[in-house]
Amino acid sequence: MRPIKARISVGAMAHNLRVARRHAGAARVFAVVKANAYGHGLSRARRAMAAADGFAVLTLEEAANLRLMGVEQPILLLEGLFGADEIATCAELDLWPVLHHAAQLDWLQQLPPSRPLQIFLKFDSGMHRLGFPLDGHAAIVERVRALPGVAGITLMTHFAQADEAAGVAWQLHPFLREMAGHGLQWTSANSAALLRYPETQGGWVRPGLMLYGASPFTDTSADQLGLKPAMTLQSELIGVQALQPGEGVGYGQLFRADRAMRVGIVACGYADGYPRHAPTGTPVLVNGRASRTLGRVSMDMLCVDLSDSPDAGIGTPVVLWGDGMPVDAVAAAAGTSSYELLCALAARVPVEETE
Ligand SMILES: *Cc1c(COP(=O)(O)O)cnc(C)c1O
Repeated sequence: MRPIKARISVGAMAHNLRVARRHAGAARVFAVVKANAYGHGLSRARRAMAAADGFAVLTLEEAANLRLMGVEQPILLLEGLFGADEIATCAELDLWPVLHHAAQLDWLQQLPPSRPLQIFLKFDSGMHRLGFPLDGHAAIVERVRALPGVAGITLMTHFAQADEAAGVAWQLHPFLREMAGHGLQWTSANSAALLRYPETQGGWVRPGLMLYGASPFTDTSADQLGLKPAMTLQSELIGVQALQPGEGVGYGQLFRADRAMRVGIVACGYADGYPRHAPTGTPVLVNGRASRTLGRVSMDMLCVDLSDSPDAGIGTPVVLWGDGMPVDAVAAAAGTSSYELLCALAARVPVEETE
C-alpha cells in the first residue's frame, strides 16, 4: 500500500476546544466545522468537540449531516439562506441562519418558517464581503424584528485583519457603537480575535482554525498558543537517488546539486494536497529530523534533502506537517496559509484516527 496517511487526533481537537473555551470567558463557543472540519472530517470533529455549545457550518447539507449524527446543540449557517427553498429545512432541523442581504429578508417574509427561527443578523463593519451596511442598521433590525417567524436576533460581524497588526478596533468600535441601542446579543470573534482581543467575546465566539491546532498569526506559533496539531500528514521514502555536482532533480530540474548528495523521494504530491508551489527549502521532517524539500513538487511525489540523514533509505518515515512540523511553517514557506493546506487534504489520502 502507498505509505501516505493523515493521522487525525480527536484528543488534540478536544484539547484545542478547551483552549478556545478558556479564551471565551462567558461567551458560548460555536465550533466552526465548515469545509469538512477544515479537512479533519465532520463526523470526527463533531465527536471530538461534542462539548461545544454549538457548531457553525456553511451548507444545509453539512447541518443536516450534523443532525443525523445526533447533534442537539445550535447549528449556525454562516452564509445563511442561499434560496427561499431552504427556509423549511431550517425550521424542520432548527438551524440558525445568518441573514446578510435584503433578498433573504424578502424570502422569510414571503415564506414564513413553520416555527420561529433564531436569526444572526450580519453587518459589514469594514471587511466589505457579506453583511448589511452599518449605517441604516436601525431600519434593518426593525424590519427583522417585525418578520413573522423570528424567535430572536443576534447581531454579527466578521473581522478582516484580526490576525494582523491592524487588528480589530477599527471594525469593533463602530460595530458596537452602532449596535449599542438595540439591546441584543452579538458575536464577532474568529480564532485570531478570540486569542488576542478579549473585548470581541460578545455572546458567542466562532473559532475555526485554532481548533485544528494551527495559528492564525505569523508572529506566534500554535505551540506558543498552547494548541496541539490535529492533523499529521506523513509518508515514507519510496526512492533514494545520489546526485553528482551539477545534476538536477525532478520536473524542470529546478534544484541542482552543487556537491555530491543523496536525495529522498517521498510518496506525497500535490494530488494528496501538498502545495505544488512549495519551493526548494520548504521544511519537512525526515526520520524525525528537520530537512527541506528540493525542486518541484510533482503529482504523487516530492524530493527531500538527505544530507543530514545518512541512514535514510526506503521506508524511512517523513512528516510533511503536524507532529514536530507545524503546518504553519510549511504554509509560510509555500506562500499560503495553514487554512488552505488543511482544507486541501485530498480524499485519496487514507485517514487514521488517533487519540
Ligand atoms: C470560517 C469563519 C470563522 C472561523 O474563522 P477562523 O479564522 O478559522 O477561526 C468565523 N466566522 C465566520 C463568519 C467564518 O466564515
